[in-house]
Amino acid sequence: MSVTFDNALLESEERRTLRASVAALGRRFGREYFTTAVREGRQTDELWQEAAKLGYLGVNLPEEYGGGGAGLSELAIVLEELGATGCPLLLLVVSPAICGTVIARFGTEEQKRRWLPGLADGTRRMAFGITEPDAGSNSHRITTTARRDGDTWVLTGRKVFVSGVDIADATLIVGRTEDARTGRLKPCLFVVERETPGFEFRHIPMELTAPEKQFQLFLDDVRLPADALVGDEDAGLLQLFAGLNPERVMTAAFSLGMGRYALQVAVEYARVRQVWKAPIGAHQAIAHPLAQARIDLELAGLMTRKAAFLYDAGDDMAAGEAANMAKYAAAEAGARAVDQAVHTLGGNGLTTEYGLASLLTASRVGRIAPVSREMILNFVCHHTLGLPRSY
Ligand SMILES: Cc1cc2nc3c(=O)[nH]c(=O)nc-3n(C[C@H](O)[C@H](O)[C@H](O)COP(=O)(O)OP(=O)(O)OC[C@H]3O[C@@H](n4cnc5c(N)ncnc54)[C@H](O)[C@@H]3O)c2cc1C
Repeated sequence: MSVTFDNALLESEERRTLRASVAALGRRFGREYFTTAVREGRQTDELWQEAAKLGYLGVNLPEEYGGGGAGLSELAIVLEELGATGCPLLLLVVSPAICGTVIARFGTEEQKRRWLPGLADGTRRMAFGITEPDAGSNSHRITTTARRDGDTWVLTGRKVFVSGVDIADATLIVGRTEDARTGRLKPCLFVVERETPGFEFRHIPMELTAPEKQFQLFLDDVRLPADALVGDEDAGLLQLFAGLNPERVMTAAFSLGMGRYALQVAVEYARVRQVWKAPIGAHQAIAHPLAQARIDLELAGLMTRKAAFLYDAGDDMAAGEAANMAKYAAAEAGARAVDQAVHTLGGNGLTTEYGLASLLTASRVGRIAPVSREMILNFVCHHTLGLPRSY
């Protein structure tokens, strides 16, 4: 049985080799390693460092700054395959995928030299903060504001649910600056180093079995040097989307990996668990939903590869639509696969020993973050179908 995607004709030899090597690394660590780290309140640093040594963490970043010179397609493979072995590295979604991409594409030479080699070799990490308590899904409403003061920026605002701030050297904050001509606020990106005075973070307890934590951020008159601004002050939205599309593709990869992991556990269980004269996997009520889960994951996987392909080919507009669709499809497929996997194990589906129940909450994350499924449906309604807006 295979819950792996063996796309001999659809995927290049290099990508299939990468897939197999990452999967081998993930299996070497395995789910037990991951859940033990969470139970002991540790990060999965050994896996992070090993993945870094093998060049996986910065596989998408430019070679001249220590990266692998490949693309988002490869980075998504890394996250999906690690997830499929039960040990996903959530920070891949933000550190190399959003922050690395934005800095590589829009940063100054100095910013690239300062950040990219560390993000690529895993010695430095960067979190990403856009969500605000009073804006939520409506990112047009964010109020974290930067004002110029001589040669510096002064940033003030609140963020919520930002992942990995405690283990990140800095957070890329989406703020706003005032347009000198119109007075309107436009989005801008700032690198805020963790120890900067005025930057504080508070842990939000979450019902998730994951080493990475979420935080509320308090930015009170955080004074930043001029070069904390990444990219052009007037092209903030474009730059932001250059980072958000990879975020959606990577979230899709996260959901796919988790769904595949859960399905694998369920299938192995259904093959051997016997309470009547045949194993439970012979009953179609158990088998068909597992087959459906496999099909849904395969379809979502294809869409994810399409989105990554378009992004790597440089078509940000087409990639935006595809990345939204891929994230939606993968989150749904992942959540349904987990749900069916838990059910397949009966009572064991809820035991700590089998470790599937905790995925019920974790698999919901893909439905909510970084953009909820309703907001993706809204996007498809307006952007793809040309329907009128309700808001
Ligand atoms: C585990 C986790 C990690 C996260 N990590 C990060 C991070 O690293 N950085 C970061 O910036 N953020 C992060 N987030 C935040 C995440 O992106 C937000 O939770 C998400 O964008 C939804 O915002 P909200 O929670 O404020 O929900 P709300 O915007 O309050 O929405 C609540 C509900 O209303 C629905 N809704 C809202 N508007 C509409 C509408 N117009 N039409 C239909 N339905 C609507 C939503 O779909 C949702 O179901 C994370 C969240 C989680 C759970």
